[in-house]
Amino acid sequence: MSRPTYAIVDTAAFVANYRYAKSLAPRARALALVKANAYGHGAVTLARALAAEADAFGVACSEEAMELRESGIDNAIVLLEGVFEPAEIANAAMHHFTLVVHSPLQLDWLLAARPARALDVWLKVDSGMHRLGFEPGELAEAYARLDASPNVGKIVLMSHLASADDTTSTTTTDQLARFHQAIRGIEAPVSLANSAALMAWPQTHGSWVRPGIMLYGSSPLDTPDSKLQPVMRFESRLIAIHDLAAGESIGYGGRYTCSVPTRVGVVATGYADGYPRHAPDGTPVAVNDQRVQLIGRVSMDMLTVDLTGQPQAQVGDHVQLWGDRVSVADVARQCGTISYELFTRITRRVHFQYR
Ligand SMILES: *Cc1c(COP(=O)(O)O)cnc(C)c1O
Repeated sequence: MSRPTYAIVDTAAFVANYRYAKSLAPRARALALVKANAYGHGAVTLARALAAEADAFGVACSEEAMELRESGIDNAIVLLEGVFEPAEIANAAMHHFTLVVHSPLQLDWLLAARPARALDVWLKVDSGMHRLGFEPGELAEAYARLDASPNVGKIVLMSHLASADDTTSTTTTDQLARFHQAIRGIEAPVSLANSAALMAWPQTHGSWVRPGIMLYGSSPLDTPDSKLQPVMRFESRLIAIHDLAAGESIGYGGRYTCSVPTRVGVVATGYADGYPRHAPDGTPVAVNDQRVQLIGRVSMDMLTVDLTGQPQAQVGDHVQLWGDRVSVADVARQCGTISYELFTRITRRVHFQYR
């Protein structure tokens, strides 16, 4: 017996989404992004499922990369923020991690290190997002110093796009132009495309694409893509049902007041499981595969839904918070956030099951 709050993760869907990503950029290799515990889905299990065909995996830091290595993953692993201190470099070399080098400080650390073997590097240029990367005018010198160092193996030139999900914006083409200007004259593989660019901006594909969110079945674009398969189903059950009279209010603060007689279902999922507390009335939930609406404020361990249209629903019945019946993108839109945040906020109290 246990509390019925589950994340059911479909590893075959993850692999299928990777293959789909590759099919959209057939000439590029694909770095499968499994940072942040595979966007909250479980990095070790998903990386194992994809290990035979992933060109490489991308993580945020050494700790995430070590978790994969210690689980027997031999693929190349790129640390997307590089190292945070020089002491990480020896370990990174020992475990064949590829380092992003995004700043003069990181470059100095790498050139001053005495690693047991050369490290492959992804050299990052800031093409306009202004988060990480060398200024375009500094890029050629940074490349030359890395290229001349015995500490450095292969070099990929990379940048990150700020607005690839906005297909009407000129930002992506502006960034692409700045990137090509910055790397002019350098012969090296290039990498720019996150999922949105992979899907919407073929001119950004280059040598390596970097799909993240699409691998989890969620499109970063406004329009859903039926070829992407949801990887996570976030599910629960009804644990109580009440018939309320018009005028009665539900839950903390009585945020929702019934305007008509209302059948209310109580679901065993709350914000301590990672469901957003600020989800408004009307957020979609599926009960027995039919869409109903969230009503009343989400509490720590429970939330409430309107079952008036489902008189046959019973305690114990099946609820889906997001997955194949309710798109995570719809929930995210209602909550003023993105699927990335919903996925990564699922907490350890939720039982994960892998299929
Ligand atoms: C997370 C990340 C990606 C993947 O982004 P998605 O929008 O999830 O596809 C690509 N590149 C870098 C540098 C990242 O940090």
